[in-house]
Amino acid sequence: MLTGLNIALIGGDARQLEVIRKLVELDAKIFLVGFDQLDHAFTGAKKAKIEELNFSEIDAMILPVSGTSLDGQIETVFSNEKIVLTEEILASTPEYCRIYSGISNQYLDDLVSKTNRTLVQLFERDDVAIYNSIPTVEGTIMMVIQHTDFTIHSSTVAVLGLGRVGMSVARAFHHLGAKVKVGARKTKDIARITEMGLTPFHLQNLEEEVKDLDVCINTIPHPILTAKVISKMPPHTLIVDLASKPGGTDFRYAEKRGIKALLAPGLPGIVAPKTAGQILANVLSQLLLEELAHRKESC
Ligand code: NAP
Repeated sequence: MLTGLNIALIGGDARQLEVIRKLVELDAKIFLVGFDQLDHAFTGAKKAKIEELNFSEIDAMILPVSGTSLDGQIETVFSNEKIVLTEEILASTPEYCRIYSGISNQYLDDLVSKTNRTLVQLFERDDVAIYNSIPTVEGTIMMVIQHTDFTIHSSTVAVLGLGRVGMSVARAFHHLGAKVKVGARKTKDIARITEMGLTPFHLQNLEEEVKDLDVCINTIPHPILTAKVISKMPPHTLIVDLASKPGGTDFRYAEKRGIKALLAPGLPGIVAPKTAGQILANVLSQLLLEELAHRKESC
């Protein structure tokens, strides 16, 4: 149980509701900042404005998946309030206070480094990334169905990258009956793709491999689908770019060439906010329980 733990949950979207639900269940005391327009009331969770919080009593701070913007703003869909995470706020928390977010950026990195606090980026964890790949795959299938006039079954699909998302996407499209080939750069990945019963190719040969594609799904956060590569694709090819912004596609060139290319960020939060929230809630509660046990041991 998280009895006695004071947690500030600042901003976020529908996924945070699952986090609140779980932490309340574990008896933590939650302060909700940026939730003034949320109709639902959680027993054990108190809405507050950021300036009203006594951060010296906060044991852990939970930010939205996006962390902060590059100027420190915290996004929230349940408030119109402008919420900014400042150095002053972090410095006023106890030294052991951990900050949890999905991802980070230069602003947040600088802030935790200046204040000597620990930032935990949940999306860097393999378990979170793998669980999250499940709703990501479902969202990708939805996008491909919405933007094509042919079946996934029997179509030729390339998946670029065999990371945590690439592997799940490739497997799912294979099971839907697509002819799946996967591009990677490591020999161990080429071996794994072969073992999965899919067709491997080295990314060096990408220009050659895109010539017969119906769908190209990119998971590589690096400019990989360049103008030169796109120029080799059949005109009907659909590109779905899953890599984090700005993606790995030359969207300007794709548009010029008349190839439909979609950047599709944040699919888990769009297609399955409840599941995506539960994934975060489970990992967060486990981490907070471990942290609390560790603190009790060292007292
Ligand atoms: P990951 O496990 O790190 O996999 C990344 C893949 O990209 C690996 O196969 C990696 O190969 C390859 N790669 C990276 N840089 C490369 C380069 N310069 N050249 C060739 N290959 C390169 O990451 P992930 O968890 O699968 O996530 C992939 C991307 O999807 C990330 O940008 C993530 O933020 C995003 N994402 C999007 C959604 C969504 O809803 N759209 C959901 C979840 C994740 P090596 O091992 O050879 O480096």
